[in-house]
Amino acid sequence: MTLAAAAVTAPLAPRRLWAGNTLTLGAMQIDTLSDGFLTLPGGFILDGAPPEAADILARYGLGTDQLTPPCNVTLLRDGDRMVLFDVGAGHDFMPSAGKLAEAFDTLGVMPEDITHVLFTHGHPDHLWGLLDEFDDPIFPNAEFVMGQAEFDYWTNPETVNTIGAARTTFAVGAARRLEVIADQIRLIADGDEVLPGIAAHLTPGHTPGHIAYELRSGSEGVLIAGDAIGNHHIAFERPDWHSGSDQDAETAAATRLRLLDRLASEQMALIGFHLPGGGIGRAERADGTYRFVES
Ligand SMILES: [Zn+2]
Repeated sequence: MTLAAAAVTAPLAPRRLWAGNTLTLGAMQIDTLSDGFLTLPGGFILDGAPPEAADILARYGLGTDQLTPPCNVTLLRDGDRMVLFDVGAGHDFMPSAGKLAEAFDTLGVMPEDITHVLFTHGHPDHLWGLLDEFDDPIFPNAEFVMGQAEFDYWTNPETVNTIGAARTTFAVGAARRLEVIADQIRLIADGDEVLPGIAAHLTPGHTPGHIAYELRSGSEGVLIAGDAIGNHHIAFERPDWHSGSDQDAETAAATRLRLLDRLASEQMALIGFHLPGGGIGRAERADGTYRFVES
């Protein structure tokens, strides 16, 4: 590269760091924005799976002690609408996540510009970015949307007692944040058209009221799958296996199988919150199972 070429391309470098990937669908522009990554003990995924799950991880160059999945928040721009799917982990979940503000800066988007926030579910890495360090909403002009069953679960005072010791902070943290926006949230059900061209699919198991969002433009579609398909290795090779990350592992496996079958059959684009390469790709059948193909 010549010096002149370096000078021209240098200002774009941060964009590659924080804006994960881009896709267009009709008039919709879709960007995935990195919120950083999670730092998890391997058991978070491996608990409940057979021992052979470690062999799959090894094939992907991953060990079993610690996993560091990326976090991809999706931004859709369509005319006057600026729609965010989940809000990232915020400032107080874990140091490696909560970087969405840096991605916004890179794209020149302000939190005040966001017109709608559509939640897939209420886990910390998807919801806790709702409030700043003073507990004020970061997206002051947005309408918030969440599945009715998901909202009911996290706002039920019994959830903190039934969710299990490992996740009590999840329950307390979700209830506190949802209380702040309770008057500004629209609750939706399976099959609802949330906004023009955006349909909700109840995809339970990872959480009780998890919603995936299907974007449509003519014959083209994109599925924003949230955590219904939670990683690019075990979830694709053995979607039937139980994952420690799912609150109802049996239901989550059934949901995953149903989604992968449809995604592969229709060759629909897929955006996964914890999938690599900015999370955008497709599911393809491979030897009786599936694999994730980045695009
Ligand atoms: Zn997640």
